[in-house]
Amino acid sequence: MDAFATTPSATAADAAGLAALVRLLAGRGAVVLSGAGLSTESGIPDYRGETGSRRRAAPMTFQEFTGSAAARQRYWARSHVGWRAIAGAEPNAGHRAVEQLRRSGHVSAVITQNVDGLHRAAGTRTAVELHGGLHRVVCLDCRRTSPRSELDRRLEELNGGFRDGPARVNPDGDAELAPEPVAAFRVAPCAACGGVLKPDVVFFGESVPRPRVERCFELVDAAQGLLVLGSSLTVMSGLRFVRRAARAGTPVVIVNQGATRGDELAVARVDLPLGAVLTEAARRVRAG
Ligand SMILES: [Zn+2]
Repeated sequence: MDAFATTPSATAADAAGLAALVRLLAGRGAVVLSGAGLSTESGIPDYRGETGSRRRAAPMTFQEFTGSAAARQRYWARSHVGWRAIAGAEPNAGHRAVEQLRRSGHVSAVITQNVDGLHRAAGTRTAVELHGGLHRVVCLDCRRTSPRSELDRRLEELNGGFRDGPARVNPDGDAELAPEPVAAFRVAPCAACGGVLKPDVVFFGESVPRPRVERCFELVDAAQGLLVLGSSLTVMSGLRFVRRAARAGTPVVIVNQGATRGDELAVARVDLPLGAVLTEAARRVRAG
């Protein structure tokens, strides 16, 4: 029984897209580029949100964060609440299917734009985290990195009873809070030097470290195909890999709910929930 064929919203184009996806995976050596849409089934809403509405506030830029103590207080208060949702999230069927395909050699590498650590949690320890990870914190003064769990304990001590109720959480771990509780939040300095701590993620206004970009270009150049999962490719940091692959004649298949900036570069696309699509694709690849 083909579970995919019974998905009511599947169109002929989706069925053709799925067949192209299976062909691309069967060729082995596909590189995955994943985005926020892969984590929505883990309970982390993407930037469009469940209702399709955009987030209310623009994400904090690196310049704002480094430029003012008040901005850092706002960042850490919201992130302290948001971290509860990110740390509590578990990998979903999509992450698990990607790991299964990696183990069988059909996927050669995973590049993710997500900072939620869910590929690693699914067992894909080698996933390249293009924009870093929320599970790690870096000191902007002494450059020491430390686990987020350590900082989380210190922030809990400093802010006992700080609101941890329901709040809308963005994929970057930013929870939307009112200004009042934010103003009372106490920020923790670096335990080693007293300097400024920042999550080890790439902020808007900051560039992805060059060696990391080069590593991703190497992976894409060696790939037999590029598989985009759950990204609308709105930021250049992801779109450039799709352009690179397309220029080299490497087939690109996109699985995403909604249009993407890379659609015209893709040989096929599937516009259906990722967990079901990837589980079905893995099943068909296994069945040969
Ligand atoms: Zn330090």
